[in-house]
Amino acid sequence: HLPLALLISLLVMAAVYLAAGTRMSLAYPLNHALARGEFAIYCQPIIHCQSARCIGIETLLRWNSPRYGPVPPDVFIPLAEQHALIVPLTRYLMAQMADNFALFPQDPAFYISVNVDSRHFHQQQILQDVQQIWLAKQPSVTLMIELTERSRLSDLDSQQIHQLKALGVLLAIDDFGTGHNSLSYLKALNPDVLKIDQSFTAAIGTDAVNATVTDMIITLAQRLKLKLVVEGVETPEQIAYLRERQVDAVQGYYYARPLPVEDFPAWLAQFHGA
Ligand code: C2E
Ligand code: CA
Ligand code: CA
Ligand code: CA
Repeated sequence: HLPLALLISLLVMAAVYLAAGTRMSLAYPLNHALARGEFAIYCQPIIHCQSARCIGIETLLRWNSPRYGPVPPDVFIPLAEQHALIVPLTRYLMAQMADNFALFPQDPAFYISVNVDSRHFHQQQILQDVQQIWLAKQPSVTLMIELTERSRLSDLDSQQIHQLKALGVLLAIDDFGTGHNSLSYLKALNPDVLKIDQSFTAAIGTDAVNATVTDMIITLAQRLKLKLVVEGVETPEQIAYLRERQVDAVQGYYYARPLPVEDFPAWLAQFHGA
């Protein structure tokens, strides 16, 4: 009979093989998903802490695969990045949003935030797309671009960042504090907004080390006069803690889960009416 250790390692190998197989086999249908209209656009409201008003949204993609069912973005976004699909996907998202500006408050202070991969900066593509897809539609809202600390700093040339800002685009560092190089991104991007990752939010009231880091990021943003959006806010205790520290805005299940963009006007009317 097989020794237990061998049996376990065989099982682990089988599991890894199956997981890799699923990821590989997802890449093929992902290729066609865009043409077949299998992506849905969701948005999550961003709420100003003091006034409890919605000041913007983050767009979030959903893939409803007829074969696999709903595939979470944590699975298909990395695949799209690997298979040169992330730029077309983001372009599609921007075009869909540009066709639907009427869903949002006609207010330049309101922003629509889009997650952008640093590959989109190659050959000035992001700059061209912002001009041709977004600004050409004369939006009454402001565009915000979120870049994570997983971006390659070498992709983010300062010239293009400068030009984006000159066009009135806001820049945010997403998942701030999770990388090893947060301060380098701060320097390279000269952002308008820092988004604090939900792992730090979850630590409020529980984990002393991470809560200290949260406090330090809040102080850092305030000293640098950057706006802060704290992500993953789920409890009234977290809201109270962040309000006390004069945090600008929050995003999280406490106020709203991501919802289909077309449902946003009804959500907003109810949220501001209540
Ligand atoms: P992210 O940019 O950090 O987006 C925030 C994620 O946190 C979203 O997950 C959102 O649903 C989730 N979230 C929001 N509030 C809460 C909360 O209170 N509690 C908890 N536990 N989670 C919360 P989602 O929609 O599954 O997206 C996951 C990631 O996929 C995003 O993380 C982003 O990195 C990526 N992603 C989604 N859409 C796009 C896209 O269009 N382009 C790119 N490049 N990446 C995208
Ligand atoms: Ca984001
Ligand atoms: Ca984030
Ligand atoms: Ca995240």
